[in-house]
Amino acid sequence: MYVLNDFKDLANTLFPRFCPLCGKRLKSDEIICAECKKKIDPLPYRESLRGKGFFDDFYYRAAYKGIMGKLIKVYKFAPRPSLAEFLAEGILEIFERFPPLPGSVLTYVPPTFKSLKEKGFDHMKTLAKQLSRKSGLPLCTLLEVKKQKGYQVGLSQEERREQIRAKYMVLSENLYRTSGKVVLIDDVFTTGATVNECSRILKLAGASHVSVYTLAKS
Ligand SMILES: [Zn+2]
Repeated sequence: MYVLNDFKDLANTLFPRFCPLCGKRLKSDEIICAECKKKIDPLPYRESLRGKGFFDDFYYRAAYKGIMGKLIKVYKFAPRPSLAEFLAEGILEIFERFPPLPGSVLTYVPPTFKSLKEKGFDHMKTLAKQLSRKSGLPLCTLLEVKKQKGYQVGLSQEERREQIRAKYMVLSENLYRTSGKVVLIDDVFTTGATVNECSRILKLAGASHVSVYTLAKS
């Protein structure tokens, strides 16, 4: 144990790491510094949106501003496994307060082809893998983005809604192998259009319950 700590101290001296948010030097086990961590909302939120969407429950870890906003932006553009782990712990904290239904499977909102190409990694799947490992919920890929012609600018709200409707599809053969109780995770809940559409098609394909958990809500 002492040897391990000495080794960590040595590694930290030789290869100092810095907080991705404020640039302060990190202690050996930290992913972000203590000061930044303190600024994250202390408790997760539950929001009653009953009757307003196709999902059954909605929970989020923090407001999409300040440190949580920065953290998500940094993570989306730099595929750091340590940040995926830190953010997975954020969702795990929601699970501790608002546990998923027993027997639920974990799934995530898939990236668009454009975003996958730009970032070179599937940021929600990476996070979901860490979350599955930490929570014990089995990870199951249930959603996929349909191939489509690129985004057009200047669409009306109705046309944009239509585009979201046609965007995702359910991998039914994977869904059939589950209990039908789904925990759907995403990074940010803005209008809710994406998670709502994903919930709609999951229900249509036979899911009995969809709980949405996001890192943040704007
Ligand atoms: Zn910091």
